[in-house]
Formats: sequence, C-alpha cells, structure tokens
Amino acid sequence: MNIIDKVMELFVHYGHRIYFGEAVTQREHALQAATLAEENKGSASLITAALLHDIGHIINISESPAAESLYADTADDLHEEIGYRWLSVHYGPEVSDPVRLHVPAKRYLCAIDEDYIKLLSKTSVRSLHGQGGPMTSGEIKAFESEIFATDAIAVRRWDDEAKDPNRKTPDLLHFRIYLDAAFNESAC
Ligand code: FE
Repeated sequence: MNIIDKVMELFVHYGHRIYFGEAVTQREHALQAATLAEENKGSASLITAALLHDIGHIINISESPAAESLYADTADDLHEEIGYRWLSVHYGPEVSDPVRLHVPAKRYLCAIDEDYIKLLSKTSVRSLHGQGGPMTSGEIKAFESEIFATDAIAVRRWDDEAKDPNRKTPDLLHFRIYLDAAFNESAC
C-alpha cells in the first residue's frame, strides 16, 4: 500500500476519534488545518504538512489504544517525532520538517509573543508544560536556524485555529491532489 492510500485508511479508521480535549475530531482538525493552508495559498507540500501535522497521534492510536488515554492525561506522546519519522520515509523535509517542528513552534511563539498563549486552547496550554514550556534563548536561536521554521510557524497557527466545531471544509479526497503533488515533488 502506498503512503497516500495508507493516510486515507488511517483517517477512515481513526479520524472520527475526538481530537484530545477539543470539540472536533482528528479528521475535522486535519481538514480545517489543510483548508486554512489552502486558503493562504500554501504549496502542495505545506498543505500536506498542515493536513498531516498530527498524523503521529493517529499512528499512536492505531498502534496502541492506550495512547489515547495517555495523551488525555496531558502526557506528551511525542506525536510530532513519530509523524516526522513516518512521513520522512516518503516525503522530503518540506513536508516532514514542519510536522516535526509544529510543537517546537508553539514553544517558540510562547517565548517570543506574549499574546500568543491567549490564542491557545485550554488543552494546548496544559500540554505546553509537558512539551518543555516556552523556549529558552538558546532554543529560540536553534529554532530560527531551521530551514522550515517559517513553514512550521504557519502550520502551528493553522493548527491552533483548526478547532472550530462549526467550520465546514472540503473532504479528504479534495486534498488527495496535494498529497500526490507533494509526493511527486519529493521524488524529484
Ligand atoms: Fe494539531
């Protein structure tokens, strides 16, 4: 099975799970983030990264039902690293790095923008601590030196916004074209 069929299958089987502590499901959250990326004229790779930024949560749930309750207790499930490792087998860093960096991007924004934390959901504020809290000045420098830091910040902001239970989006099939295009770009 290729990566894109596997992504579709994961969302079919696990996308209806609630996005931990939020008012949307994993699928709704992913689709809202991808829709925001598309509305903001993101590249196919960036839209793919937005859609799949939390694929690590879904992989965790698919491999161990206990992962769901673990995360619900605000433990850090390292989903950004798991998603990154899974995606980087098939996609280039333009997709996998924003996924890896979307949690550091939250810690970065908390450190450099005092208003940012007010935008976060309660669950996101709670998980911040387990993720290391706001970045130190050394971590800020290291984050800013990442090639895909700007893309990671964009994904992070769409992630934070993608929790609206009333927002309508295109379905998963609409985004398949971007998954294909990003895959083909990575293969070049
Ligand atoms: Fe998310």
